[in-house]
Amino acid sequence: MAIIELRDISFRYGTGTPFEKQALQDICLSVEHGAFIGIIGHTGSGKSTLIRHFNGLLRPDSGQVLVNNEDIWKHPKQIRSIRFQIGLVFQYPETQIFADTVARDIAYGPKNMGLDQETINQRVREALSFVGLDDSYLDRNPFRLSGGEMRRVAIAGVMAMRPAILVLDEPTAGLDPEGCRNLFDHLEQYRRKTNTAIVMVSHSMEEIAEHVQRVLVLDKGRIVLEGSVPSVFAHAGILNQFGLDVPQITKALLGLKKKGYPVDTSAVTVDQA
Ligand code: ADP
Repeated sequence: MAIIELRDISFRYGTGTPFEKQALQDICLSVEHGAFIGIIGHTGSGKSTLIRHFNGLLRPDSGQVLVNNEDIWKHPKQIRSIRFQIGLVFQYPETQIFADTVARDIAYGPKNMGLDQETINQRVREALSFVGLDDSYLDRNPFRLSGGEMRRVAIAGVMAMRPAILVLDEPTAGLDPEGCRNLFDHLEQYRRKTNTAIVMVSHSMEEIAEHVQRVLVLDKGRIVLEGSVPSVFAHAGILNQFGLDVPQITKALLGLKKKGYPVDTSAVTVDQA
């Protein structure tokens, strides 16, 4: 059974105003336990709007968002509990760090869930280990950590709620290559260990190619392509029309080919011509 299912979601901003904008149109999508899904699309294609529907930050104009087979908008008062199940990590999540110790910052979510102190402490330690930081970080001032460490602490704060899906918007933005690798190593281990699904928005075709099992391409609020990375990236000509970076896609495809994936890179050249 899918953890979350979006059925024919449509959404527009500013309905009835001169700024009215159809941001999503007839989106269907489901996410299973343990999946790793990537979402790509040029700026303004609807990626952020889409992920804000996952946990009820936005309400669709039409269509349904089902979590564990239940329409989340049937009882709007329950939306709060959905936020614990679908963990959204926004871009530059470290800007939302507020506590004076790492432990207190990570504890914020579990505390809001009403858990007892012992469980909270356990969740904090567990989440810290998921992002590869040991207990010596618990009492440290998060504002004195490196950028990469702060990012990992912020993500741990969402992991500590033990969501069924971790949704990450550009998780490596601004990190150096070492920081990116480090973060992905831990995300992969976390996914395997906990069977948590990961949905990631990324503009890096290499990251998408290297990590996700299924990729969705958004354009003007619609899913225009969907499938395994090799199958989607083979349509470089079409992706080019949707404003995606073909040289980056070609490079990512060649990387996959080097790793032994059956990729027909000749299709890329033909499409580009
Ligand atoms: P992406 O994340 O792919 O860059 P967004 O989901 O942010 O795309 O935006 C989708 C469309 O909705 C764009 O045309 C954008 O200008 C518009 N949009 C996004 N946020 C708002 C808003 N708060 N009010 C009005 N229009 C918006």
